[in-house]
Parts: sequence; C-alpha cells; structure tokens
Amino acid sequence: MAAAASNPTPMMKQYHEAKAAAGDALLLFRMGDFYELFFDDAKTAARVLGLSLTSRDKTANPIPMAGFPHHQLDSYLAKIISAGMRAAVCEQVADDSKSGPKQAKGIVKREISRIVSRGTVTDDALLDPATSNFLLALALPASAPLNTTCGLAWIDISTGRFEAAVLPYARLGDELARIGPVEIVLSEAAADLPAEWTEGRMLTRRPAWAFGPDAATELLAKQFGTHSLDGFGFGEDDRLGLQAAGAVLDYLNETQKSSLTHIDRLLPYRVGSSLEIDEATRRSLELTRTLRDGRRDGSLLGVMDRTVTSMGARLLSDWLANPLTDTSSINARLDAVAELHAETSLAGELREALRTTYDMQRLLARVTTGRATPRDLSFVTRTLACLPKVKAKLTGRSASRLQQLEARIDLCGDVRGQLERALADDCPLTARDGGFVRDGFRNDLDEQRELMQGGKQWMANYQAKAMEETGIPNIKIGFNKVFGYYLEVTHTNRDKVPAEFIRKQTLKNAERFITPELKEYEEKVLAAEERALAIELEIFSELRDLVAQTASRLQSTAAALAEIDVVASLAELARSRNYVRPEVVDEPILEIIEGRHPVLDITEPEGTFVPNGVRCEARITTRGRAAGNAKRDTQNSQLLITGPNMAGKSTYIRQVALLTLMGQIGSFVPARKATIGIADRIFARVGASDDLARGRSTFMVEMTETARILNTATEHSLVILDEIGRGTSTYDGLSLAWAVVEHLHNAIGCRTLFATHYHELTELADSLAGVANLNVAVKEWQGDVVFLHQIVPGAADKSYGIHVAQLAGVPAEVNERAKEILAELESQSSEANTVERRLDRPHQHASTTSHALQMTLFETADHPLIDAIRSTDLNSLSPLEVQQLVHQWQQQVDGQLQGKPR
Ligand code: ADP
Ligand code: MG
Repeated sequence: MAAAASNPTPMMKQYHEAKAAAGDALLLFRMGDFYELFFDDAKTAARVLGLSLTSRDKTANPIPMAGFPHHQLDSYLAKIISAGMRAAVCEQVADDSKSGPKQAKGIVKREISRIVSRGTVTDDALLDPATSNFLLALALPASAPLNTTCGLAWIDISTGRFEAAVLPYARLGDELARIGPVEIVLSEAAADLPAEWTEGRMLTRRPAWAFGPDAATELLAKQFGTHSLDGFGFGEDDRLGLQAAGAVLDYLNETQKSSLTHIDRLLPYRVGSSLEIDEATRRSLELTRTLRDGRRDGSLLGVMDRTVTSMGARLLSDWLANPLTDTSSINARLDAVAELHAETSLAGELREALRTTYDMQRLLARVTTGRATPRDLSFVTRTLACLPKVKAKLTGRSASRLQQLEARIDLCGDVRGQLERALADDCPLTARDGGFVRDGFRNDLDEQRELMQGGKQWMANYQAKAMEETGIPNIKIGFNKVFGYYLEVTHTNRDKVPAEFIRKQTLKNAERFITPELKEYEEKVLAAEERALAIELEIFSELRDLVAQTASRLQSTAAALAEIDVVASLAELARSRNYVRPEVVDEPILEIIEGRHPVLDITEPEGTFVPNGVRCEARITTRGRAAGNAKRDTQNSQLLITGPNMAGKSTYIRQVALLTLMGQIGSFVPARKATIGIADRIFARVGASDDLARGRSTFMVEMTETARILNTATEHSLVILDEIGRGTSTYDGLSLAWAVVEHLHNAIGCRTLFATHYHELTELADSLAGVANLNVAVKEWQGDVVFLHQIVPGAADKSYGIHVAQLAGVPAEVNERAKEILAELESQSSEANTVERRLDRPHQHASTTSHALQMTLFETADHPLIDAIRSTDLNSLSPLEVQQLVHQWQQQVDGQLQGKPR
C-alpha cells in the first residue's frame, strides 16, 4: 500500500515500539491512506472484522497484514469495541500534507493518539445518544472483600460526569445494575468478579499501584488543581472511593492522550440518597429494558421517554434509575410538570425549540479534549441560538423549579456572537479542509481568498489565451499532487503543441504539459491557499479555546436544557395518556383509583386495558419507632392476590410498583387518582419458575433474594412478590411462602402485594390482622373461563387450572376426569381439615399453629396425583399417550383413595 516498502526496517521498528505501548489493544498503524494491522493483530482483525489477510514483505519473512482505508476508521472502531476489544490508533504525526511528496523522504513520525475501548469512546459515531456511557473503576480492599466496604468511581467521559462512592461489598451488584457501566476497571491483584456482574461488559485490568492512595492523591490533585477533595464533599471514610477515582484518571490519562479539562469535578454519591431498587427488582420491573429480549422498547423507560433531545433522554433514564425519596424535591418536579401540563401550548413550543438543539454535553467534551471539528462548533452555535427562545418561554413561570431552570440558562451572548460572526453556515467535518470561516470575518483571510479567487480568473484567461495562440481547440487545465497545475492536450493535437510546453506525462489519449507561466501562477495560488488555511486553523483554535473557557457556563446551561426537556416530556406524556398528578406523602400508604399498567396501557389495544385500584397501608411496627407509636391496626398491609393463570395478577402487582416509582421520579401516573406514600425501597421478586427469561434462575437464587427482602425491608418499603415459593415442591414452596408472609406481617409490616397460585395462603387473612385477600374476577361461562382482569376483594374460590387446560385444548375427557378427581380430593381433604379447627381460634399467633396448618395443607393440595396432572405437558403427548396416562391416574386414584389411612 502507500508505504515506503524500499526501507521496511525503521518502519517496522517504529511499529514494534508502538505495539509495545499499545499492550493488548489492536494496533491500527496509519500508513498513508490506510490503517494497517500486522502479525497476530492482523489475524485477529481478519477473524473479527472480516478483513482479508495478506502479507507484507512476501519474499524473505512474510508478515501477516490486514488493513482498511482511513475514512472507515469509525466503523472499524465500532466493530472492535463491540467485540469487547480495544484499539490503539497510531497516527502519522509529521505533517506532510502541505509540503507534498517532495519531502516524503525518510520516515514519517508516528504516535498513538488514543486507545479506544467501550468505556473510553468520545466519538459520536460510536456512542448511543440516549444512553450514558459509564466507565467504572473498582477499588477492593486487599483481603476478604465479602464483608467489607469497597470504593467505586464512574465516569461518562463523553460528558465529563464523574462520581465516586464507598459501599458495602454486598451492595455492589445493585449499584452496578443502577449505574450500568460498559467497562469495569479492576486491579490486576483483585480476584475475579462474579460472572453476572461482568456479563456484557468489558473488563480491564490495571496495575495494582494505580488503585493505591498515593496515585489517587496525586492524580486527583492534578486533575482538579486542589490539594484536598473536602470541598467536593469527600471525607475520611471516602478513601476507597477516591482511590477508585484515581484509577479512573490514571486509565484515562493513559488512553486519551489529550486534555481532560472537561472533567472538572468529582461528585460524592451517597447510597440511600435515593429510592433503593436492587438489581433483581430493576430487572423484573423492566425499568430500562425488557426481560424477554433486553430491549429498551417495551420497558418503562421506553414508554415514558418522550424527550426530544439526547441530553433529555439520558437524564430521564437517570431519573428512573434514581427516584427520589423526599416529598419536597418530588413535589418541586411535579409542580414543574403540572405547570407545563396545564399549559399545553407552552410545553409544545418548548419541545419545538429544543428539537433544534444539539447534544451540548458531548459537544463540550469534544471541545475541551481538543477533538471538536468545525461542524461541532457550528452545532454549539446553533444550540446557543435556541437559548433566547427557550429562556423567554420560561420567564415568569410560577413553579420554582421552572424559575430555577430559567435562571440557569446562560445565553452566553458574547460567545455566540463571536461564533456566529466567524463560522460559515455549512462547516466541514475536518478543519484541514478549510472553508469554514465566513468571508469578512478577518481581513488577512479575505486577502488570501481574493488571491485564490483571482487565480481562478487568471487560469481561465490563460486557458483561453493558450487555445487561441496554439490553435488547439480543447486544452484542459488540471491539477495533481505530483507536478501541480498542467495543460492537457489530446494526441490528435499533438503536432500543434508549441516548444515552450514542457511534457510531464503521457496518457492513453492525451499528454500533460507545464509552462513557466503556469508554475509562477501556481506558486502564488498555492501560497495563498496555504496561508488561508493557516489563518482558518488559527481562528478555529481561537474559537475552540473560547468555547472551552466558557465550558462551565455552557455545561450548566446544557444541564438545564436536559431537565427542561425531561419535564416537558413528562407533561406531554401525562397529557397524551391522560395521567394524573399523584399526591405524594410521607406516610407509608398507597391509594390508587383506576390505575393502569403504564406499558400495557400503551401496548394493549386502545380501551382494552382494565384499570384497577389499590388501597394499602403499612402496619407500623415498633421496629425503628418510638414505642408509643406501636402497631397501627390496618387490615390491608399485606395483600394476597389469588386467581387463575393469565388472570392478570402479575400485571396488577407490577403496576402498583411502577406507579409508585413513577410518582417518586416526579411524574404523573396512569390513574384516575393516586396517593403515593414515599417508599424507601421497592422490592420486586418473581419466583424462579415464572422468571422464564432468566436462565440462571434457580430456587436458590429465589430464596437468596427473598432473604434479602426479609432482612432489609423496613415499614416504609414496598414489597412485590410474584409466585414466590413456586420453584420447589409444592409442600416446600407453600410453607415458605406462608412463613414469608407471616414475617412481613409480624416483623416488618410493610406494604406488600403477593400474587400467588397457592390458594391455601388465603387462609392467612383469617389469622393475621393486616393480611387481606384480593382476587382477579373471573366469569365462568358455560364451563369456560372468561378473564375480566378486575381485582376484587376476597379470595379466589377455587383453582381454575382445569378450566385453563380446557381453554388450551386439552381433550374433554381428560378435563372431565380431572374435575372428578379434584372434586374427590376436595371432599377427602375437608373431612380431616384442621384448618377449620384453627379458624375457631383466630387470635392465636400464627407461628404457633403453622406446623399443624402445614400438615393439613399438604394433605389437601399436594396429592401426588395433582402434581402429576399439573406437571403433565399435554402438548408433548399423543392422544393415545394421554389416554394411557388418564388410565394410570384412574388406577392410582382407585388405589390411593381407598388405601390411604385418614
Ligand atoms: P397472571 O400473573 O395472573 O398469570 P398476567 O398478569 O401475567 O397474569 O396477565 C396475563 C395477561 O393478561 C397479560 O399479558 C395481559 O395481556 C392480560 N392482562 C393482565 N391484566 C390486564 C388488565 N388489567 N387489562 C387487560 N388485560 C390484562
Ligand atoms: Mg403471573
């Protein structure tokens, strides 16, 4: 390719030096118009990037080689980082573009300009506009991390947002789920992380010293120009968090090789400052992606996101990840949403104005890291031009948050004026192309441009004159890099060429000549061009500095724009889906009238989603409270929802959790009326057997997660349990579910919704004061089941499994027989029903009776035959096999019902 193949040794030496510095990154070695990879990198690239493998120096020692044209860098970088690898971009730094081939002797200097991985990209082409791109470093203490604290720091270098925290190791999984980093940086000395933490993320090992206190102190001081980070709100206990932050900076210094001045602060993140949602809950509530296919579409974020800017989209996603827990901040947001909701046209106009803005946060990061293009600067300019309109629309608003946002918009008129005067309307992607500075902005540039312009005129005259003097009708004038401007004459006119034309090149149909006059002209024009470009580059760097110096004002303006977008989008969502403003209160209560599931409300056909309400109140216990404020007697702190499969139980309980969460980010909710008591934590658990999307789900996981709820929920928490206990045998599962509800009732008292197919659990309402039964209304219609999806008080009266089987097409004989068996089993069990005995003593503490109770329940519901019927997969059986099976069952029923001692 374009390399100096005659002298490979110094170049390969240069290559090996660069490769040593690149470490495990693929080295993209710039050679002329290509990026080349050599040796193992070439083989990897051939495999992963689909490049064809060739070889260099084919004679003596062939070197494997693969490459691609330089303008395809972005698309290959995208492939490299999405394959979980990193790339070191090694550029030719000696500037040979101006001097042309004359000086191309010797070897071009090359340098690694950056090392790119998933967490360190800043290029727009490689980033999802709607998602923050976090790189996270983890500082783990040397020994026994399991019961100690650890430090973490995370940064989105595309915007400069940088945070650090210290937390118990046990919470790390939840925080990783909250932050969602794309790359994790870990010390070489640290043990491996659990696979589920690193799944889908890039893992980068760095030397242990980079995580040490000394490196941190030095790097942080250098980055922020301060000697202590007390001013940022960090204290003695935050040491590990700062060490992680140091590791982040060390890694960025190594990979970015450019200014990082846009990283101007480190914010402490305090666990517990927002609504706590653990990893399992995030997943099962499908907050930002769906369980089934992990997509954003169909998640809560997917339906709520009506933002019109990428900054807004990222902020909304941040709000959803971190709902608030104090009424005043929530109400401040709600006031702002309410005002824009009430003034529909205002919200619309704001959104219209915001649509024409650009991603100022990422633009500014590129400006301050020296990677901005003229086009980036013109996007900053256009965004600034939108500000007066947005600000004017927010002037004189009554919601205090809107007033604050208005005040935070800094019009930066001085900067805008300068940029507008300087930059042309259409700016090129690279500064080297020139032509982005407006005519009239600077005299010296105009002069050079006039010379270039005049040159064109001269050229036209010269061409005409040449044709006239030689009598050749079609002399062309062209330019190439090798010998500059030339005259081209076709072979048919060869004999008319005058002596003063100097032949330079012979083509198939024509010959090319130069003349002394042409050369003289060429020098002038090229000099003017060069001078003009130099002036433009100078202006460009002045403008870039100007924007960089204004970065902090522009950053805070950008943050205000993002929030305005979010607030207006929530207002628009509320208007278009007919949401209502929730009343947010501190008491742990929940009262929703005609609530709808925010996702199904949109995805189900219009008007088919059946709204449901809820009334639920924590039963305040003595735990954590003044003794005088002991148990509050409510009859609806733990709600048990029973009903057949597909009735809508899971939908209902998730809906309650989602509405609470929406309220706590400051959004209106899909309901007719809602009073939402602030939750400190929301837990949502799906039993292992229902958690289909999650391959690794086991009963062990289900129980571990359940244990966490029981250990950490407070009376202010909201607990959603869906078919917990189903992942084991019926006896086991039912007993566990039973005990879990008892514990939530007796020891915690928090608002709980428990959807269960264990019909037996409904008996808990008789013995536990705070437990109430709900069920999903079902209509039986000529032996069929019709789901009404309506939640009504009381326990479901029987299991509809058989009816559902019928609907699913199970042969009528099997269903008939199953009904008979069920009837027989039910009558059998009621004969020896100790539950009835227990019901005579309703005030006895449940735990003392649970043993007797379980025994009864086992006899009632868990006949092996029932299990066999339940677990039969009819789809996999032929009609004949079904017949045989039913025959077997008949025999078992005959034998067992007679033979079993009662
Ligand atoms: P369950 O947990 O009781 O088995 P789901 O909550 O999974 O039932 O709901 C099953 C299906 O019923 C849902 O996919 C949805 O299509 C429908 N559904 C649930 N609740 C409603 C409702 N309130 N209005 C309309 N359709 C509903
Ligand atoms: Mg369900």
